[in-house]
Amino acid sequence: MDSAKVRIRRTKKFGRGVFAVKPIKKGEIIAAFDGEIYDDDFEPWTDDLLNHAIQIGPKLWRDSKGLARYVNHSCEPNCGIKSKVKIVAMRPIAKGEQVTWDYEMTEKNDWWKMRCRCGSTSCRKIIGNYKNMPRAIRKKYAGYISEWLIPRQRRKA
Ligand SMILES: [Zn+2]
Repeated sequence: MDSAKVRIRRTKKFGRGVFAVKPIKKGEIIAAFDGEIYDDDFEPWTDDLLNHAIQIGPKLWRDSKGLARYVNHSCEPNCGIKSKVKIVAMRPIAKGEQVTWDYEMTEKNDWWKMRCRCGSTSCRKIIGNYKNMPRAIRKKYAGYISEWLIPRQRRKA
């Protein structure tokens, strides 16, 4: 499921990240959370799992078998989420650019959050819950927010 146009690289500040090695067009699928599914009864929730699986339902999370779990968050992302698990380019991505998405496009719970240091001028500082995403940003991401948060039938409005 991983695009052949991206690779994992070390970043200066944030550990591993995923970078474009070729130009990527808007709408292209970068990677997907196509791995194990976990519910909130699962044990143990390791830090690794907690920080890399994404939410796909009120009490369901999914990891990836490939690159998806290494794609970093940004408050000015170039990718979004299609269906519940696909990371898709929201705009053209240049060769060398880091691929990012906004973790609040999938997360909605009261117990997970992270401090964001993405450095963008629109950085929201604390990330973790779709409920806190400003209305203007929801609008900007229209069509790229997980279907578990915005069911398809409500997307037409
Ligand atoms: Zn940020």
